[in-house]
Amino acid sequence: MTMCSCCAKKPVYVRKRLLCRACNERWQRAGRPDTGPPPPSKGGRPRDRATDERAAETKQALADGTATLTELAERFGVTHQTVMYYRDRAEEE
Ligand SMILES: [Zn+2]
Repeated sequence: MTMCSCCAKKPVYVRKRLLCRACNERWQRAGRPDTGPPPPSKGGRPRDRATDERAAETKQALADGTATLTELAERFGVTHQTVMYYRDRAEEE
C-alpha cells in the first residue's frame, strides 16, 4: 500500500497528490500551497465542530460569570478536566 508523501504514516487517500486524508485537509485549509501541506498543529489533536463550539461557550460563560466549570461539565456531559481543556483551548485562540 502506498503511504502518504507528507507524513508517511497513513495510506494515501488522494492518489493524485499522494496525500492521506489528514494531510490533504491541512493542505486544502492552507490554501493549497505549492510547498505541500503545512506541518500538523501541535499535538495533532483533531478539532471537531462540537469541541470548538463548547470551547467558545465555555469561554463566554466564564467571562460572563453565568456558569461554573462544574455546571458546564454537567451541561456538556463531560468531565471537569474536559471543561478545563475547553477553557484553555478558547484562550489559545
Ligand atoms: Zn499524511
